[in-house]
Amino acid sequence: MIQFQQVTKRYPGGFEAVKNLSFEIQSGELLFLAGHSGAGKSTLLKLIAGIEKPTAGAVLVNGQNVARLSRTSLPYVRRHFGLIFQDHKILFDRNVYENVKLPLDITGFNGMEAKRRVLAALDKVGLSGKEKLNPISLSGGEQQRLCIARAVVHRPAILLADEPTANLDRDNAHDILELFKSFHQVGVTLVISAHDETLMADYGRRILRLKNGQFTA
Ligand code: ADP
Ligand code: ADP
Repeated sequence: MIQFQQVTKRYPGGFEAVKNLSFEIQSGELLFLAGHSGAGKSTLLKLIAGIEKPTAGAVLVNGQNVARLSRTSLPYVRRHFGLIFQDHKILFDRNVYENVKLPLDITGFNGMEAKRRVLAALDKVGLSGKEKLNPISLSGGEQQRLCIARAVVHRPAILLADEPTANLDRDNAHDILELFKSFHQVGVTLVISAHDETLMADYGRRILRLKNGQFTA
């Protein structure tokens, strides 16, 4: 489903965040990306989503080179993805419901079916009944769940999560990983990064370890 062919990413300024990486992610896989801060985890996730383009090599999603997609087909490929990234901020001038509905607004998806999807996503993450609240009144764990609901509301095939457990205590972190596991069980492909590998151990899935932009054993 996702293929990296000798991918290097050099940022303006010359720093190589990802160095000559080749690997594959199968459809339906739950994959963890481990590594310290600065290892290149975010960069790798952004390359998968087409947010960053490789300096060398190719990233293929369903056989399509993400960097070569036309401006018109890119939005369609983007719809395969649900993103839970640090810089995707919650909007505090809208309530919980409106935050989750945002991705549907952008694609022009409206009406009763959109409402049903938003309520289903909120139910899935355990936020039913909190639709009308301002997100500021949610706990850290609940805010993370809100981000997850927003990321899955359009039923993406691939969910990318960048350090989704970084600011959570152990119990909350496990709850979030259980939630991801439930998406895995219905066939969603997941790539989850974290610097704390002890959390991943309990889930017994494939782990790719990054250090200075390269894989380690
Ligand atoms: P991680 O997610 O593992 O913390 P990142 O992919 O965020 O790692 O960063 C890897 C390296 O690339 C870091 O040294 C970081 O400073 C650098 N980097 C990340 N984004 C940029 C950017 N937009 N411009 C320049 N350097 C960047
Ligand atoms: P829906 O009624 O929208 O199908 P479900 O109750 O089946 O919702 O699931 C709740 C949420 O879990 C959905 O909003 C969706 O975000 C997510 N979800 C369930 N199944 C899938 C799937 N196959 N692909 C992506 N997301 C899914």
